[in-house]
Amino acid sequence: MERKEAEKLLYKRPSSIPKTEEEKLKVEAFIKDYRHFIDNAKTERQAVIYTEGEALAAGFTPYTHGATLKAGDKVCYVNRDKSIIFAVIGKRPLSEGCRIIASHIDNPRLDLKPQPLYENTGIAYFKTHYYGGIKKYQWTAIPLELHGVVYRADGTRVDINIGADPQDPVFYISDLMPHIGKDQMSKTASEFISGEGLNIIGGSLPSDEDGGVKLRVLSILNEKYNITERDLITAELTAVPAMMSREVGFDRSLIAAYGHDDRICAYPSFRALLENGVPEHTSVIMLADKEEIGSYGVTGLGSESYPDFIRALCEAAGEDFLACKKNSICLSADVGGAYDPCYADAYEAANSTYIHGGVAVSKYTGSRGKGGCSDASAETLSKLALIFDKAGVAWQVGEYGKVDQGGAGTVASEIAHFGIEVIDCGVPILSMHSVTELASKYDIYEMYKASVAFLNS
Ligand code: MN
Ligand code: MN
Repeated sequence: MERKEAEKLLYKRPSSIPKTEEEKLKVEAFIKDYRHFIDNAKTERQAVIYTEGEALAAGFTPYTHGATLKAGDKVCYVNRDKSIIFAVIGKRPLSEGCRIIASHIDNPRLDLKPQPLYENTGIAYFKTHYYGGIKKYQWTAIPLELHGVVYRADGTRVDINIGADPQDPVFYISDLMPHIGKDQMSKTASEFISGEGLNIIGGSLPSDEDGGVKLRVLSILNEKYNITERDLITAELTAVPAMMSREVGFDRSLIAAYGHDDRICAYPSFRALLENGVPEHTSVIMLADKEEIGSYGVTGLGSESYPDFIRALCEAAGEDFLACKKNSICLSADVGGAYDPCYADAYEAANSTYIHGGVAVSKYTGSRGKGGCSDASAETLSKLALIFDKAGVAWQVGEYGKVDQGGAGTVASEIAHFGIEVIDCGVPILSMHSVTELASKYDIYEMYKASVAFLNS
C-alpha cells in the first residue's frame, strides 16, 4: 500500500469549530441562551424552576401519575423541587425502549451549617460545610452569592437569593495576607484552608444597643425576611461564587463560568428535547440532583424515583416495563476532563479529550482500576459512534487522566443499576470543579447536536 493510501487508515481527531459563518451564528445564539441559563440557575432548585418554566411555555404539561399518553405528548415531572424529568412520547411503543439523557444540575458549593451564625471579635460569620469536591483555598477572597429556602416557625417559606444583582451585597471568606503567611504557606494545598476555616462574613456592625454583630445580622434577616435564628436550623442555604459567565480570549472562543459541570450537558440535552419533533422512541431527559455527593438521596439518580417515572409511563400505556428497560439506551451526559497542557503530567495525551474536539465519550470513568464505573461495552460504544457519525457530530474518546492519578464517577453506574444500557458522553472542560470552569463554545453546541442525534436514533 502506498503511504498516501495507508495514511487514510489513520484515525484523525475531529474538530467542533464551525466551518461556515451560518453555523458560527447558530453557535453564538445558542451560547447566549446557555449563558442566560447558567447565570440565572446557580442551584438545582433554580435549574428546576428555569427548565420547568421553559418547558411549560413550549407546550409541556405537568405529568399526572397514571395519565394515558399518546405519541407527541410532552410531560414534565418535578421531584421535590430539586430534580426534574421531561418526556416526549415517541411513535413506537414504550416496550421498544426509550432514549434517555441523564445529567445533573447540582454543583460543588458551600452549604451553610444548620447553626451557622456566630460572631468573633466584631465580625459575624456563617459556618459552612462544603458540598462536592472543591479545592477549598479557591473559595477565599472571592465574592459569594447566597441562595436557598428558609421555613419559618409557622410553616411559611421564604426564598433567599442575594448577591447576583450588582446592587446586592455579596459575601466573602477572608484569607491571610502573604506577608505573615509563613506557617500557612508551608502547609499542603488541602490543609491550606481547612473546612472549618471556610467561614463567610455576614456583617461587621454592632447592633444599636451594642448587642453584638450577630444580633445586628439577625435583626436585618428578621426585617428583610421575617425569620429568626431558629428558622436557620431547618433552612437550606448555599453560597456560590458571585460571578457571571464571561467570554475568554481575544477570539472569545471559550466560556468561563461557575458550575459548567454539569449544567453544560443538562441545558443542551434539554434544549434538544424542546426543539425536537415527535421522535421514534420516547425521549426522556433526567436532570438530577446530588451527583456531586454520590447521587444519594431521594432526588439523586440513585433513587428509584427515576425508573419509577418510566415504569409509570409503561403501566399507563399497558407496555412491559422490563422490555422497555432492556431496549432503552441512556447517555450519562456529564463533563469530561479536557487535556490541560499546563498540567500535562496528570494526563495521558493519546487517551485524553481536547477543547474544541467535540463531545467527550467515555467508555468508562472510575478510579483505581475503573472502580465505581459502569464500563460500557464495545456494542454500546460502537452503536453510539454510528449514531454520531451518521449525524455528523464531532466526538472524541478519552479518560480523565493518567491511570494512577485518580478519577471520578458519574450517574452512569446508577443508570446501569436500573438495568439500562448506558454510556458517558459530555462536554470536555478545563479547571473542572474550580470556582470558575472553562469550556469551548463549539463543544457546548456539539453537545446539543449530539443530543438531537441521540434522541432521534
Ligand atoms: Mn458532573
Ligand atoms: Mn462534578
